[in-house]
Amino acid sequence: MTGAEESSSGRGSLPVYFDEDANLDLLDDIVSIIGYGNQGRAQALNLRDSGVDVIVGNVRDQYWETAASDGFEVLEIREAVKRARFVMILIPDEVQPEVLEKSVLPVMTRNKILCFASGYNITFGQVTLPDDFDTILVAPRMIGVGVRDAYENDRGFYAFIGVHNNSSGMAMQYAMAISKGIGATKPSGALLEVTFRQEAELDLFNEQCFGPAFGQVLTTAVDVAVEAGYPPEAVLVEIYMSGELAYTMEKIAKMGTLKQLELHSPTSQYGSMSRGIRYANPELREQMQKSLGEIQDGSFAEEFAKEYELDLEILDDMKEMAQDVPIVVLDKEVRKKLRFRSDK
Ligand code: NDP
Repeated sequence: MTGAEESSSGRGSLPVYFDEDANLDLLDDIVSIIGYGNQGRAQALNLRDSGVDVIVGNVRDQYWETAASDGFEVLEIREAVKRARFVMILIPDEVQPEVLEKSVLPVMTRNKILCFASGYNITFGQVTLPDDFDTILVAPRMIGVGVRDAYENDRGFYAFIGVHNNSSGMAMQYAMAISKGIGATKPSGALLEVTFRQEAELDLFNEQCFGPAFGQVLTTAVDVAVEAGYPPEAVLVEIYMSGELAYTMEKIAKMGTLKQLELHSPTSQYGSMSRGIRYANPELREQMQKSLGEIQDGSFAEEFAKEYELDLEILDDMKEMAQDVPIVVLDKEVRKKLRFRSDK
């Protein structure tokens, strides 16, 4: 089937694309990867393995050396932008405004395509772009090592794609071509067409609502069990340290929330289903809505811009204070006792 498939949820009609919708031949000119970190390295290697002509733009330091030792031609960012038709911005969101202003935008010409992996800066007004070239989004829902690992195992992954400016009339096709080149459309992968705003806000929602709420649930469960007198080592292993939780999350992603229940014993299924409703908490919903409101009205982005100007002072303080949080202290002790090795 060619063309977008509409989602069948009935809630909106999100266009979804697959491998056959994307045309890799559109990447018939140099692709410049700006930044060679988590996403940069993975996407550069994948594009090259897909047969695309890739160069890397970076500051002259260790990442430059890594890219060079991976066999890429590496140039100063400005030169890399000049040389390429497709420019992929894969440096951290918070440094993008300055790098774009100094080294990218002055050399972006009409027929180039600027590709972001996050909608953050455009959505929250940290960057304003001229409309004489295409600006697109290809945002893997996958960490960099996962992007490379999936490619090497001939597996796809989900990516959000979108168009901010369609000066050529081909912007969505370019987004799909890049997605195919990085391997997103291999089996089990799909491209979900969203706006830059939807990508940016959902990403923050996940980071600021689901993530920390989940952390609180985990901490509460550890506290309750330790207070009830169970050995802390056993509690931590039972709740998360065994890695079983990570494995279950993977099964939830692959099989669906209900279907994966079948992997657990009837005791487990009955216990969790019969008790689940107890934890439905209206206050949780309210707090999440509050955080989402701050994301949507831009006040979080404003707050973070100020924090960034202060060299992430508050973040550093919070990290320092977190060292003394009971579960962090306990985690360290238990790991030592159980001779945990991060490399195994
Ligand atoms: P990284 O933190 O891994 O980026 C590191 C790269 O950015 C290095 O090449 C580094 O070079 C360069 N860099 C850092 N600071 C500067 C600077 N001031 N000037 C020029 N280059 C700089 O980034 P990620 O890969 O994590 O993120 C890249 C993009 O991908 C972001 O938009 C992010 O939102 C998005 N994304 C990230 C995901 C992830 O899993 N990490 C998932 C999906 C999207 P050097 O230090 O040598 O200057």
